[in-house]
Parts: sequence; C-alpha cells; structure tokens
Amino acid sequence: MKLLLVAVNAKYIHSNPAVYSLKAYAGQYAEQIQIAEYTINNRREEILADLYQKRPDLIAFSCYIWNWELIQGLFSDIKIVMPHVRIWLGGPEVSHLAEEILIQHSEVEGIMLGEGEETFLELTQYYLDQSGSLEEICGIITRTGKTNTRSPLELSKIPFLYEDPDTFENRIIYYESSRGCPFRCSYCLSSIDKTVRLRNNELVKKELKHLLDKRVKQVKFVDRTFNCNKEHTVEIWNFLTENDNGFTNFHFEVSADILRDEELEILSKMRPGLVQLEIGVQSTNPETLHEIDRFADLEKLKKAVARIHAMKNIHVHLDLIAGLPFEDFDSFEHSFDEVYQMSPHQLQLGFLKVLKGSKMHQNAEKYGMVYSTHPPYEVFQTKWLNYNEVLGLKRVEEMVELYYNSNQFTTTLKFLQMHFTSSFRLYQELAKFYVEHEYHIKTPSRVARYEVLLQFASAIDSQNTELYAQALTFDCYLRENMKSRPTFSNQLDTFKDELKEMKKQKNITGKENHLEPFYYPVWSEENQMLTKRERPWVICFDYSKRNPLTYEAYYEVIS
Ligand code: SF4
Repeated sequence: MKLLLVAVNAKYIHSNPAVYSLKAYAGQYAEQIQIAEYTINNRREEILADLYQKRPDLIAFSCYIWNWELIQGLFSDIKIVMPHVRIWLGGPEVSHLAEEILIQHSEVEGIMLGEGEETFLELTQYYLDQSGSLEEICGIITRTGKTNTRSPLELSKIPFLYEDPDTFENRIIYYESSRGCPFRCSYCLSSIDKTVRLRNNELVKKELKHLLDKRVKQVKFVDRTFNCNKEHTVEIWNFLTENDNGFTNFHFEVSADILRDEELEILSKMRPGLVQLEIGVQSTNPETLHEIDRFADLEKLKKAVARIHAMKNIHVHLDLIAGLPFEDFDSFEHSFDEVYQMSPHQLQLGFLKVLKGSKMHQNAEKYGMVYSTHPPYEVFQTKWLNYNEVLGLKRVEEMVELYYNSNQFTTTLKFLQMHFTSSFRLYQELAKFYVEHEYHIKTPSRVARYEVLLQFASAIDSQNTELYAQALTFDCYLRENMKSRPTFSNQLDTFKDELKEMKKQKNITGKENHLEPFYYPVWSEENQMLTKRERPWVICFDYSKRNPLTYEAYYEVIS
C-alpha cells in the first residue's frame, strides 16, 4: 500500500513543512510514504494526472485557505480515475468545519483534526500494518464520528526535516522552534492552540548549525510569536550572531512591544541582513485593538521599532489589517499614517479574513461583517467600512506595493510626500491618478512606473517637474546599473566629455560604476523642496557595494 501526502503551495519558492513533518514523524514507514508538492498555478488536470502516475492507495491533502478550492475540485475526479483511493484531509482549513466537509464531500474518508504528526503515524500503522481500529486513533473524524481529542505533541520528538537541504534548493526553508501562541487575537486561528511548546534549544542550535554549514539562503521561522519566551529568544539569537556564515538570512515574526533591552542589544550586534523581523501592528485604534483582543503596548512597540530602525542592520516588515471592528476609513487612514511613520522596509496592508473557527467568525454578524464565501474569506464590508471604501483601500494597497514596498522610489516619494497632509493621502491620490489614466488596467511595467510617477508629480506640482525628474533618475541609478539612460534623465550633451575625463582622473574603470550629474541635491536629508544649481554635483554609484537590506548601490558625491 502506498500513501501520498499532497501539498499545494501558493508559490514555487514556498514549501510545505507540514507534509515533511508528517513523513519524518512516521519515519519507519518512509518507503511507503511519498510527498507530492504542487502550486496553485498548476491546472487541476495536471495535478490529477500526476497523482494518477504516482499510483497511490491513500492520498492525504494538506489544506489551507490558499489551496482549498483547488483541492476540493480534485476529489470527484480522483474517485473517477482511481476509485480505490482513500482520501484523507488535514490542515487548518478543514479542522474547524470537519463535519460539514464530510457531508459536502462524500469522497472524503476522514479528516485529521489539529496537529497531525502523531495522528498520521497511527493512521499509517492502521492502514499499513492493518492493526487497531480507526476509533482508537485520537484527533480524527470519520463518517462514524469524532474520536477523542489528541493531546499536544512534544515538539522535540519531531525529527529534523532538512538533513538534506539541497532538496529545497531555490525554495525557502521553513523552520519551527515553537508551536502555539500565547496571544489571543480574535481573527487568528493560532490563538486557539493555547499551549506554547518549545523545541529543545540544543536541538534547535544543532539544526541551525547544519543549515548554516550548508549555506542555505533563507530560513523562515514559522513560530507564531518567536520572542514569546525570553530565554529561548536570547539563546537562539546569540547563537545566530556567533555562528553567522555571512550569507544566510533568518526571518522571525515577533511581538515588538515585548522585546527587552537584552534582545535589542543582541540584534544591534548582528550582521546587516542576518535577521529580518515581521511585526504585526494591525491597527493603532485603541478601541479596535481592545475589541480584537490584542493588548500590545503601542508606545513600547513604536520605541522598539525606532531602536531597531536606528541600528540600520535589520530589515523590518510591519503589518496592518483593514476591515477590523471599529476601524472606519478615517481611523484606518490614521493607523496607516502611524505605521508609515515608523518607516518599515515593507508595509504589508492586508485585509481581514474571517476564518471559520475564529472568534471573529463567531462575532461577524454583530460587526455587520460581509465577507466572501470563498477562501480566503476576505471582508467586503463591515459596520464601519462599506464595500466602496474597501475597494478604495485595495487600490491604496496596490500603490503601496508598487511604489513603497518595491523600494524603487524612496527619494521621489520623500518629495511627493511634502504635498500631502498624510502619507495615506499620497497613495490615495496616486491610486486615483491610476484609475483616471486607466493604469489600473494597462498596468505599467516596472521601468514604466518611473515615468508614471513623473506624470503624477507633474500633475500635482508642475513647478518642480525638473526636480522630480532628477529624484527619479537618482532612484533609478540607486537600484540599477542601467544600460540606456532613462528618458527623464538630463541630456548629457557637452557634459559627456567632462564625465569621461572625471572617470579617468578618479581612476574609475569598472563596469560596476556609473557617474551621473545632478543639478538638485536630491539625496540630502533635508525635508524641503530644493533649488537648482548652475554646475551639477556628480555622483558615483558603485554597484559592487550594495546595502544588504535595501539592495541600494553605494554612492558618493565626487564633484
Ligand atoms: S495574530 Fe499573531 S500574535 Fe495574535 S494570536 Fe495569531 S499568531 Fe498570535
């Protein structure tokens, strides 16, 4: 008998640690268990054909909001082409509505509820050794009913998943050093798993050392709040600082308001790029935070982020959620501005997902929440925000992705910002401009976005078009060693020869350098519009020295 664990990931670079963990835990049956990974971009027929070729007797799907629709669409066809195959499900998308799913999908034999390692091992024993009965296996539901709840697993008992990280080449390595979250955010399914369990520190260090020795590119900790245990955090971060291989990057989700001096001190000593932090702010409206059971101390959070920012060695990613209770359009604008002021490297503006099994789902009616019936169950409207406003926020989110999170326009945005009373308004106006010019349909390419931003700048401040063109030129060369000059950059004319001469004199020979004249000091820290100079400054961009956090080229004023 052959068992197939199936993961359908959102992108190729992702992998699904859950199926690897189930297989590793059922190690003695490894030869009879296979893993198949696909992405949501694979067509259903392609996945079906591939599953068929693998000739399984039992298929267990790992179900999440991003793959649930696709997976559901496979059941009936699997039963047509492989009628003997038993279908099992597991994962957060199916754990909370298991009874309904069994009614909806007669093809499904059973569902594993909650964490799956031990349950899958016992299921494997049941099918492969034909021992025991399904009724004796805790944490499952079948057509004969639900069995007893499974007690939480000791995390250190799970074998290491990445003895051979080469199998994950070009993909992110997901690592779990703790399971569960001590917090209770009402929209989050992790708040249901009340027991935080840690993997043994010595084991974690040994496994991280293996990944460091193998020089993997990135390790993402899936721990829901990595720093919820101080000793664990200090020990792991100290270990990473001392064993840094100068290459690998580690991603952590943390609660910034509980970061203490000791942890911040360790962070300050790290190589730029060794660690990146994702910090959920979600809203800055006190009523909202109270209602969603988030009791983070906002002032402490801001102070911690400011300290980390000042260290200049940690990439910071801040999250906001639109559509929460008590957050209307104005209040969201305020939340956005406060988070924007913290100058994250990435500002992720997400929309509330009303997840079955969450407290938010139970209270949805009270909040007047209308949300999609399809995964990811995103909010359309609340008592405080109508659908039109949600659509407006979606367009703002798109602009933030293209113009802020791309890090392509940092200099130009600084000047544009001076024309708006809030940063939110800047992106809102840019979104309007996109719609007016149908750019939301004709989506400009990465390079064309520089020109679109210049058009926008000229529309709001026609007096300073030249300055904006210079700021955009600076932004362009800061990131890219362009082969051809941007259309909006200065005509070099006679200055061309001077630049050549300057290169000779300064002995700048490599292809990794570019000299560019600027008539406005657009790189200056000053927060004001600038005046033009007769003779330009010349900046030398050096692409062999890039900032590991922002990937911007090193530059120097050479004349
Ligand atoms: S949102 Fe984050 S902090 Fe809140 S319960 Fe979920 S995992 Fe924990």
